[in-house]
Amino acid sequence: MHYEAPLFRPPSEAHSLIFQATIGCSHNACTFCSMYKNKRFRVRSLEEISSDIRWAKERCGMVKRIFLADGDAFAIETEELLAVLGKIALAFPGAERVSVYAGPKNILAKTDQELAAIRQAGVKLAYFGLESGDPVVLQAVNKGVDQEEMITAATRLQAAGIELSMTVILGLGGKERSSEHASHTAEVVSRINPEYLAALTLMLDKSTPLAQKVAHGQFTPLSPQEILLELRMMLADLHLQHCLFRSNHASNYFAVGGLLPRDKKRLLAETDRALNNEITLKAERLRGL
Ligand code: SF4
Repeated sequence: MHYEAPLFRPPSEAHSLIFQATIGCSHNACTFCSMYKNKRFRVRSLEEISSDIRWAKERCGMVKRIFLADGDAFAIETEELLAVLGKIALAFPGAERVSVYAGPKNILAKTDQELAAIRQAGVKLAYFGLESGDPVVLQAVNKGVDQEEMITAATRLQAAGIELSMTVILGLGGKERSSEHASHTAEVVSRINPEYLAALTLMLDKSTPLAQKVAHGQFTPLSPQEILLELRMMLADLHLQHCLFRSNHASNYFAVGGLLPRDKKRLLAETDRALNNEITLKAERLRGL
């Protein structure tokens, strides 16, 4: 099996078989992100991926879940992606799902028919980084799409039958845009209505453009208490039909989670307890990405 480090995967893919279908991120320009900064983006050839699939088939036995890394398997031409998914289905007929990171620009570049074919070929879940619903924040962090394009991309995936696991980043607007970031993000998430939602907390590698802005006094990071307030504002404004919400990532100061809307009251009450210092927050040195 061939892996080009660093290899990232969502926490919920900890037990999945991972194939690197692409190397790096096709966008690679978000100002807060250093994940793939040292990788030049490329799509691996069908031959390379097939060789990994053959290797894994001989050694891995029963495989239930498969994750396609790196940054965005939707950057692959549809015909080629379908060929990869076909080989995976042949090698692992017992697999229940294939999941991918999916960026909005690459989703928008595919037709509805292509998205439906990708779903039909096994992709059941896409990890989608909304990060913020605030148009000013999206532009400032160079996400590459605006609020409406985010909504279109996400809802087109859902219409194709692909479930959405969405991430937002607490603190991404800094003190300057905190309340707008919270309210616009809640509004956009509510319009999309994803099946899963994770609220991470901003952590900056020194090499990122956003860290440079902090150093130059152009962006003011939130304190842990302000992060909690932002989380509370977001939770209060979320109107979802059936969404598994988690804010228990290694980057978070405080872990909370439940089913929305059912557990909304409890989530708000727990956040209030943390705001009132009745729950100890994670120490800065224990946070990680
Ligand atoms: S946040 Fe996602 S889309 Fe943006 S550069 Fe990082 S990996 Fe790429």
